[in-house]
Amino acid sequence: MIRENLNIVEQTVAASCKKAGRGREEVTLIAVSKTKPLSDLQEAYEAGVRDFGENKVQELIDKIPALPSDIRWHMIGHLQRNKVKYIIGKVSMIHSVDSLRLAEEISKEAVRKDTAVDILIEVNAAGEESKYGVTLEEAPKLVRQIASLPGIHIKGLMTIAPFTENPEDNRSFFRKLMQLSVDIERKNIDNVDMAVLSMGMTGDYTVAIEEGATCVRVGTGIFGERHYGSPDKL
Ligand SMILES: *Cc1c(COP(=O)(O)O)cnc(C)c1O
Repeated sequence: MIRENLNIVEQTVAASCKKAGRGREEVTLIAVSKTKPLSDLQEAYEAGVRDFGENKVQELIDKIPALPSDIRWHMIGHLQRNKVKYIIGKVSMIHSVDSLRLAEEISKEAVRKDTAVDILIEVNAAGEESKYGVTLEEAPKLVRQIASLPGIHIKGLMTIAPFTENPEDNRSFFRKLMQLSVDIERKNIDNVDMAVLSMGMTGDYTVAIEEGATCVRVGTGIFGERHYGSPDKL
């Protein structure tokens, strides 16, 4: 099932890239495996997936040692400062940095471990009450503040668009995030790169790719529905 789903998602990603006049290699497909057992991740790995997204620290630190070491792990969920220390040096990117205090903690741990961490700034592009992330207006200031911290490299922006049946509903938010990334890039801030635009999930990744996404985060479309409550066994 996972292999078939991946084929469909892969074809859809390729078609969206083509429609947008972009190369397929410009977009990284991140398989969002939260709540899913190791056997599902192993199946996706065998089908060629090397980028996995998780949203909980505990799940990440359980899964990382159990799977091949060439996997790139993406922390895409809200991160508490007291848990930062568990993932530094283990994840290839943290997509969900939305405060200076969190960035300072990441910086401190990275320096302690003599490493550097790639991060994205999470932006609440639709201004939803329930979502984490800074506003479009606050983002440039936060980027400037974080840019000067040691051990941390800003690589771009991330957003979680509203849940919707119609991906077109989210086009304007993706466009705003792209515009913000261009605006920040133009400021030429030291230690800030805006190459990554992490946007688009199962319901709207086609439109996100058309609007410039370089990472799409697809869970349900690859692994099927998630069941919360009684956690799946690892
Ligand atoms: C769960 C999750 C996804 C994947 O959502 P799907 O709709 O299942 O594709 C993407 N991004 C984040 C931040 C998530 O938490």
